[in-house]
Amino acid sequence: SAKRHGRNHDRRFRPSLEVEGDRQLTILNELRQALAQGSQLELYYQTQHRLDDGEMVGMEALLRWHHPDHGLILPSEFIPLAERHGLMPVLGNWVIDQAVAQLATWRGQGLDVLPVWVNLSALQLIQGDLESHLISTLKQYRVPARLLGLELTESVLLDERAGDISRRLEALRREGLQIAIDDFGTGYSSMAYLKRLPVDKLKLDREFIRALPHDHADAAITSAVLAMAHGLNLDVIAEGVETAEQRDFLLARGCRHVQGYLYARPQPAGEVENRLRQAVANVYS
Ligand code: C2E
Ligand code: MG
Ligand code: MG
Ligand code: MG
Repeated sequence: SAKRHGRNHDRRFRPSLEVEGDRQLTILNELRQALAQGSQLELYYQTQHRLDDGEMVGMEALLRWHHPDHGLILPSEFIPLAERHGLMPVLGNWVIDQAVAQLATWRGQGLDVLPVWVNLSALQLIQGDLESHLISTLKQYRVPARLLGLELTESVLLDERAGDISRRLEALRREGLQIAIDDFGTGYSSMAYLKRLPVDKLKLDREFIRALPHDHADAAITSAVLAMAHGLNLDVIAEGVETAEQRDFLLARGCRHVQGYLYARPQPAGEVENRLRQAVANVYS
């Protein structure tokens, strides 16, 4: 089976890389059907934590496809396909709907204190009516905008086709949404855009975290980004923290937030709910 277990990626099903021609078409059609039915697609949630005391501060929504024959398929394997074949605005809107609907459910249970962050693809900004979809979905479900965060990669922020991105992000922030730069440091990083783009948070890519604290270059880069972000009054969350050593290194350098297997793996909404309940109890205690 193509089910994913730990780090054994060898047998993963990789339509975007290995599958050509007819099979790719098959998978694309299956993805279209899955999207139309909705039942094979699911958002998992990975918790985010404060570094000093481990308190939960939010969740990232991560898309999963439960394929009837191939098992669990990860987004890196089907999102590029969806992007290439024009499915992305629809798929992206589905993700927004699901996340907001989940927030509304949690709100109904009094569990609405922490934000959910969704990932956006460049094509959602280029082709879609992103802002109006976001605002109307939040209205429809009566979910406050402050509970929704948007993660955008550097390539999205620098894509000229996305229009006047600074103005568009500012409009979303005025509504109350939060904005993070995802995978920070891996794209076409330009320090200049940090000055002019309205963002709340940098997500330091796992690439720089993986070999901490031993790799000198990664240690230097991480320290420099943390110092810079501090000077710019930007919050930093480190991605992919797996070990206590990595955590301690980050803590010593003033990083405030983390996300990674050391704390939790992405999991279905029902499973993250217990942690959420605990977090809510802590907020009110
Ligand atoms: P990302 O936004 O940078 O998400 C973080 C990825 O790192 C997730 O992979 C998560 O499972 C993984 N991760 C978190 N902590 C650890 C750790 O400690 N160790 C390791 N090895 N990995 C960790 P995932 O869920 O496979 O998602 C991959 C990428 O797919 C995401 O990267 C994001 O760019 C994209 N993606 C996921 N869901 C969506 C979505 O709904 N829409 C769009 N447009 N893209 C999505
Ligand atoms: Mg992300
Ligand atoms: Mg990331
Ligand atoms: Mg990443």
